[in-house]
Amino acid sequence: METDSVTGALNRTGFFHKVREILESEPEQDFAIAYFNIQRFKTVNDLFGYESGDELLKRAAQILAGCFLNPLAVGRLEADRFVALTKKEDMDLERLPELLHRTYTKGELNLDLYGKCGVYFIPRHTKLSVSEMCDRAKIAKSNISNQFVQPYAVFNEQMRVDYEQRSIALFHLDDGIKNGEIQVYYQPIYDAWTGGIALAEALARWFSGEFGSISPAKFIPTLEESGYITKLDYHVYQTVYNLIEKRRKEGKRVVDIGVNLSRMDLMDKHIMDTILEDVKNSDLPSGSISYELTESAYAGMSEDGNSFLTKMHEEGTKLLVDDFGSGVSSFSTIRDFDFDILKLDMGFVQKIGLNRKNNNIIISLIELAHRLDLKVIAEGVETKEQADFLRNYGCDYFQGYYFAKPMPQEEFEALLDKQS
Ligand code: C2E
Ligand code: CA
Ligand code: CA
Repeated sequence: METDSVTGALNRTGFFHKVREILESEPEQDFAIAYFNIQRFKTVNDLFGYESGDELLKRAAQILAGCFLNPLAVGRLEADRFVALTKKEDMDLERLPELLHRTYTKGELNLDLYGKCGVYFIPRHTKLSVSEMCDRAKIAKSNISNQFVQPYAVFNEQMRVDYEQRSIALFHLDDGIKNGEIQVYYQPIYDAWTGGIALAEALARWFSGEFGSISPAKFIPTLEESGYITKLDYHVYQTVYNLIEKRRKEGKRVVDIGVNLSRMDLMDKHIMDTILEDVKNSDLPSGSISYELTESAYAGMSEDGNSFLTKMHEEGTKLLVDDFGSGVSSFSTIRDFDFDILKLDMGFVQKIGLNRKNNNIIISLIELAHRLDLKVIAEGVETKEQADFLRNYGCDYFQGYYFAKPMPQEEFEALLDKQS
């Protein structure tokens, strides 16, 4: 009942049981739990069939059981996920890489297989269950899942907090929207010449009752991976729509506001159709809401995405290239599509005055943008020197902490009221 019939290792119940016994029988010994998986294991199944997959799993269990870790228990939790209990002194981290790279031979074929491993050093007299210990080792592993070089990681508490904050986005998005935990902040964008507020960017903020405020840097990537980002982006769009509509009804001043589009939005026909319908049926003057998209979102876009952007443009919606110059830049982005505004990446702005080449790139980019009939917003302007330099070379708009940070709606409205 406690053995895994495929590999001969312990199954989940068996492993939990055995580890509990060992920990209880040696309370003065320090232990560690390692969590392993085989990268691209599925490929083996796909290429060679399930029988070979099973054979590989069996081999992996044997390798683990006989390796330098001297495991006291080896278990398979599911698919290609193995766990091992070792004495702390046997957990030789430096030798893990050698364990985690194997060549699997099948007939004439050699297959290089790599594993990833997360390690949890079990504190003495802990109240955690064995399952929770395995979860911690697994969290450490998931921390390096996207890294090519680093094959193992040791758990620390910050990893768990990060992990929870990232996962909350997946499970609580609908509730978060419903309960008002997700708010839209506004960051004004200033006219370089008049100094007045010319535009604004809408930025999502998540204030979770359980986890406090969660940075977009954490929840946006998680939502992007899962595709749920479209819901968030649509919610932001609606919130911005309501704000502009409300202020117009009240006869108050309002500026055009940019909403961020994720690369996932540009792959999702449903959300694109919805946005386009909304724009067509909108009672707001065209251009009231603009869209920011990064070059990589633009580059990875489907045919549908392209026709969506073209139609949006025909409806008078302004399109902004976000973070221009960061990551993989290509001039074909601004050549092949008629964007309206180029947002110069913060990375350039923040090196103004520190690097001569950087200054010259900025000067050239502003000129290039103008030659292509694009306006330029400099992002992340934090000092007067940066603003002066940019203004000198013809930059059109400023966005950054030197002028204003992203702020809640009431504050943004008060600022607009003051300026009108
Ligand atoms: P982004 O679109 O490039 O937004 C600008 C980011 O720079 C914002 O960070 C803003 O708070 C920050 N920022 C503005 N001025 C300064 C400055 O002077 N100095 C520094 N150091 N930072 C400044 P935030 O709000 O944390 O957003 C991070 C990223 O998350 C955004 O980068 C955007 O890619 C994404 N994001 C935020 N809200 C949404 C959303 O509603 N939908 C989507 N798809 N992405 C969003
Ligand atoms: Ca943006
Ligand atoms: Ca940006």
